[in-house]
Amino acid sequence: MLPVVVVQGGAGYVPSEKSKASRAGVCAAARSGYVVLQSGGSSMDAVVEAVTKLENNPNFNAGCGSVLTTNGNVEMDAIVMDGKTLACGAVSAVRNIANPVQLARLVMDKTSHNCLTAHGANQFARAMGVPEVPQESLITEYSRMRWRKNLADDPNTAESQMGKMGTVGAVAVDIEGNVACATSTGGILNKMEGRVGDTPCIGCGGFADNQVGAVSTTGHGEAIMKVTLARLILFHMEQGQSAEAASDLGLAYMKSRVQGLAGVVTLDPHGHWAARFTSPQMAWAAAQKDTLHYGLLAGERFTQGIDEP
Ligand code: ASP
Repeated sequence: MLPVVVVQGGAGYVPSEKSKASRAGVCAAARSGYVVLQSGGSSMDAVVEAVTKLENNPNFNAGCGSVLTTNGNVEMDAIVMDGKTLACGAVSAVRNIANPVQLARLVMDKTSHNCLTAHGANQFARAMGVPEVPQESLITEYSRMRWRKNLADDPNTAESQMGKMGTVGAVAVDIEGNVACATSTGGILNKMEGRVGDTPCIGCGGFADNQVGAVSTTGHGEAIMKVTLARLILFHMEQGQSAEAASDLGLAYMKSRVQGLAGVVTLDPHGHWAARFTSPQMAWAAAQKDTLHYGLLAGERFTQGIDEP
């Protein structure tokens, strides 16, 4: 069953002309994470590799392609968590960084803190020799167009979900049975400057614990935080539910309790995994036993060999 990596490319509604690129993006990320695992790499190395790939892909709302704040700036959040030790690293409201997930990992590896924010996170990046990039390099025509339209990222209006392409994340379990998660996002469109969403918050944007499993979430951050979605799903797994049933229970509770839509990728240390969502769509891909599974629409699941184009 091991190793496994499962990635998500955001809860939302991908316009049909972008669906091919979205599916291809998550498949490429799952493949690259799987290569790391197959060569004996850790689950942490695999999730960082997969999420870095998605941050560099302008079709997703993370790194290059991030949504804009009300003032037209890019402020990003990211988290990583290691299921072996419960070590965690996160950054929030960080600017001018191409790969916030790598900075989150540095917070985990090189500081005694769990999360650095805004200016302090950028100062830390400089101290670590992480290059700052011009904000323009993170902004795509598409994200500028959506910002100009002044769409609010309210999950409860169909219009705001239109053209919403997502946050990215990954969960993995390596051959030693260690689990890890990583999530990275530009946040929600037209958020206030300084808004911090669920993504960098432990138990909300992700959680990883070798004794239970790992989860990476996407969706309306304010709603995800209210139900601590990642930890809620792992709680259901602790009660004996499968990765899939626990994901559905957590998502259903979030929908009924706070009327929020979301998506998750979840796995347990034995390699059972799930990609589930209540949003109209979520691009996802999983690599296991040299096989790639992927989908975007509700109920969609394609399967092919890992090396098939
Ligand atoms: N959860 C992210 C946030 O609220 C957005 C998303 O997943 O699309 O910042």
